[in-house]
Amino acid sequence: MKFWIVVPAAGIGSRVGASCPKQYLPLCGKTIIEHSLERLLSVSPERVVVSLHPEDRHWQGLDIRNHALISVVTGGAERVHSVRNALSFLADRANNQDWVLVHDVARPCVRAADIKRLLKALQASSVGGILAAPVSDTLKQVKGSEIQTTLDRSVLWAALTPQMFRFGLLRDAIDRALAEGVIPTDEAMAVERLGHRPMVVTGSRDNIKVTLREDIAIAEAILRWQAGESEESEE
Ligand code: C5P
Repeated sequence: MKFWIVVPAAGIGSRVGASCPKQYLPLCGKTIIEHSLERLLSVSPERVVVSLHPEDRHWQGLDIRNHALISVVTGGAERVHSVRNALSFLADRANNQDWVLVHDVARPCVRAADIKRLLKALQASSVGGILAAPVSDTLKQVKGSEIQTTLDRSVLWAALTPQMFRFGLLRDAIDRALAEGVIPTDEAMAVERLGHRPMVVTGSRDNIKVTLREDIAIAEAILRWQAGESEESEE
């Protein structure tokens, strides 16, 4: 099965409050971006296209920049523009029916097993779908600092990445959203707007997005836990 991977990595990650973009922060001896890319490369995509900030000064310092399967493009103002630029790069290489998986660079704990499950679950789909997890908290809709209502959590899922769609469909969906002045916050949102119903495939809840400073400590603990798990399964 032919699939391509796009990694939007052009954000500055200001909520972490670090002196460099969050994807370059160290995590268990490597940077966040290296963890993410190594896990994505381990599932054998055709190519991984990484969207970097136009003023990125950190990528050049990483050995992984020379990996034969990695290409780099310049990102855009919002995540969706960064994804679109990577899809434009792929336009001469990918067929409309090929799969493209989009994965946030800030999710370094993604499990190869989850990506493989996503690929398998969607192989017969003409649209695609996403890794997602049912929410466990009770969710409140809030205005100002007052609760307006409690949402029915039995129908709510948190969207994770990778999100996997047919290349031609995803490109059209993103172009349509942008032409209509909508900034989709994930790929599924762009595809849903065309009337499609992408599938959810249950993903591990440890596939966290590093957003705040404390997430670094949580991600480190997850990586150690996952390393312990794979040692156990080898015994
Ligand atoms: O800021 P947040 O973590 O929500 O960003 C999600 C992903 O989108 C990150 O991988 C970030 O690097 C990427 N991004 C991007 N281009 C932007 C803004 C965010 O590639 N302009």
